[in-house]
Amino acid sequence: MHSYFINKARQYLKCKNSSKKKIKECFYPRCNNESINSHVLQRKGILNQISTDSHLWTFEKDVFKENEFAFKRTGLKKAFAFHCFCNIHDTQLFKEIEVDDIDFTTYKTNLLFTLRTVYDEIYKEIVYANTRDCLLKNENDLFDIDKLKKESENAKLAIDDLKMIVGKILYDLDNDSQQFVFQNRTIPKIGLCVSSFFTYDTSEEIELMERENGSKLERYTELFITIFPFKNDSQLIMAYEKIDTNKVKNYVDEFFQNDRPEICYQKITNLIIFNCQNKVFNNQFYNEKIKDIEYKYIEATQFMLNEENKNERTLYNINFYSNTFKDDFVSLDFELLKT
Ligand SMILES: [Zn+2]
Repeated sequence: MHSYFINKARQYLKCKNSSKKKIKECFYPRCNNESINSHVLQRKGILNQISTDSHLWTFEKDVFKENEFAFKRTGLKKAFAFHCFCNIHDTQLFKEIEVDDIDFTTYKTNLLFTLRTVYDEIYKEIVYANTRDCLLKNENDLFDIDKLKKESENAKLAIDDLKMIVGKILYDLDNDSQQFVFQNRTIPKIGLCVSSFFTYDTSEEIELMERENGSKLERYTELFITIFPFKNDSQLIMAYEKIDTNKVKNYVDEFFQNDRPEICYQKITNLIIFNCQNKVFNNQFYNEKIKDIEYKYIEATQFMLNEENKNERTLYNINFYSNTFKDDFVSLDFELLKT
């Protein structure tokens, strides 16, 4: 490998590790206790259920790879792990969803799953922003300075947005305010977990709204998605803020049409491949749906991150549950479909 490339990767990892180490305190408001290693989705009953030899497959940025993304077999201790809470808050706050019989019909259950997703995203954005700030301090010509600055700024804006959402969730937990809309359903068991948020507005829509407004938008419309195996099925939870109902209700309702489940499967497949970063897969899923076409997942991710791609809600005809999934996915031509 080229020494320039290795230098760059080393610096990046050094900054990333130090940024992770800097996060020491519990994220719960006004708590100064030390944070512990825990999981976005519980290990017992959920992650354990789909792991093999306590390992799962992750899909992550890998600076030592030329195309910067890779699937990796990762131990459960690291997979889907975060460092957001002290022992007290990790146990107390989530005790209702850390049981064998989770009641998905209650508002609070759905709220707690979403809270963990939001905190995990905050954790990731903090590490992302601090890594870039650390690289900027290192003054060298290995990195594109303007790009780093922009990435750091965007991550900090995302953190502010997510913190506002945390505030609303915590308020909901103590009051009967119900500021969110949740929908959930079971889907046929699938060997993956997703816990992620994504912006409903496409880049094209945001640019148009900002042009009309004459300024940056104050907030984006965020949607939350959680998928995990539970007992004999997989569970899908989607969430959005009540104030966004008019905008996103039809879009979200399509996931929950019982008479046309294939629409749900197609939409889930698209979201997992293109829009959701935080995901893990089991061995079986990896062997059946990923192995030998890893490059296509990487291509799809790079396409999504490409600034020229302005329509992030494009729905491709792919479905994880279909026997022809791999062929269908490989035959997609992102370049041609780019608007
Ligand atoms: Zn705490």
